[in-house]
Amino acid sequence: MAKIPVGVLGATGMVGQNYITLLNDHPWFKVRYVAASPRSAGKKYADAVAGRWQLAETYAPHVGGLVVQDANDVSRAVAAMKRKSCAFVFSALEMGKDETRALEEAYAAAGIPVISNASAHRWTNDVPVLIPEINPHHADIIPLQQKNRGWGRGFIAVKPNCSIQSYMIPLHALVQAGYLVKKLIVTTMQAVSGAGYPGVASLDMIDNIVPYIGGEEEKTENEPLKIFGAIADGIFYNAAFPKISACCNRVPVIDGHTACVSLGFGVKRPSIDEIKEVWSSFKGLPQELNFPMAPEHPVIYREEDNRPQPRKDRDCDKAMAVVVGRLRPCNVLDIRFTALSHNTVRGAAGGGILNAELLRHKGFLN
Ligand code: NAP
Repeated sequence: MAKIPVGVLGATGMVGQNYITLLNDHPWFKVRYVAASPRSAGKKYADAVAGRWQLAETYAPHVGGLVVQDANDVSRAVAAMKRKSCAFVFSALEMGKDETRALEEAYAAAGIPVISNASAHRWTNDVPVLIPEINPHHADIIPLQQKNRGWGRGFIAVKPNCSIQSYMIPLHALVQAGYLVKKLIVTTMQAVSGAGYPGVASLDMIDNIVPYIGGEEEKTENEPLKIFGAIADGIFYNAAFPKISACCNRVPVIDGHTACVSLGFGVKRPSIDEIKEVWSSFKGLPQELNFPMAPEHPVIYREEDNRPQPRKDRDCDKAMAVVVGRLRPCNVLDIRFTALSHNTVRGAAGGGILNAELLRHKGFLN
């Protein structure tokens, strides 16, 4: 199969670099266009990221030679992408919410589908927030989004906040098995790469924990309700459960967000063994259809008392698996556990690529 040419907006940043490397050998997609801020525009990609490349793996030679464009110059960008036959663009921009929203809409209006990591459109009523193992059917709102806005083949689809990734799939697996989760208390320990590059100053981070990440607790408490919600009459209705209380902390870990979670069930409560069985047997659409970015096992349970740990477990199964451990009864709610996911892969670029694989499978990227 000939690879589909794609673009990356914000290609020089932390998430952008992950897109570039994850797409190095992707069997379906190939990067043909890169854009970032006016600071990087006009430079070859290799020069734009020199001195601030963060990953062990490097970019493909053909990407190093691409000239970075100004992502704000939409008409020029769209003309260049169309010349290169780019089918869609990944958006990994870090700008103000209003600017991001307007920019992503301008690309979509000009006929370029946008698969975004930014939070700007997560609460837009006709924009799906996708985790392909959980709510692939939410993508079916896209034709209505295109009709509402008079867009041709362009549309916007987004992925949720990185901090919720480590427990959303385990939670969904339990709900799907018939165990309604009514209450959830979560404390996150979030890696510094989650703040982009250069991110939090080293003097704020070394030998320290910062008990505040702007906007994160609100996202953590609300986004799961849209993802678990339903579409009726062309709009999203949030799920009523779970009620979530979140405390989000920045910790001196490079990659990997950890979450300590307590759950309260409805009437039907699973045993510890039943929960482990539900998690280890869970598979979603990406696993059934064998999407290239899909982990074989979306939830991996570790029996050791001292796992999961970011350094040992974040790269598990292409860094796309959620690694869970320490499942035990909770003295306040019903059960508690610790979960980990790689924030810049499962929580960002890898999740975005999995969304693109889903959207291609559904015929939206042809
Ligand atoms: P980052 O490292 O700060 O990178 C930001 C990117 O946006 C760079 O390519 C930068 O270009 C570009 N940019 C900044 N200002 C711009 C402007 N005015 N016009 C055009 N481009 C501009 O941030 P990041 O961590 O990669 O995050 C990117 C997006 O993903 C954000 O929306 C973030 O919330 C989201 N996200 C991040 C993570 C994570 O773990 N880091 C997880 C989930 C979602 P220059 O290099 O030229 O400045």
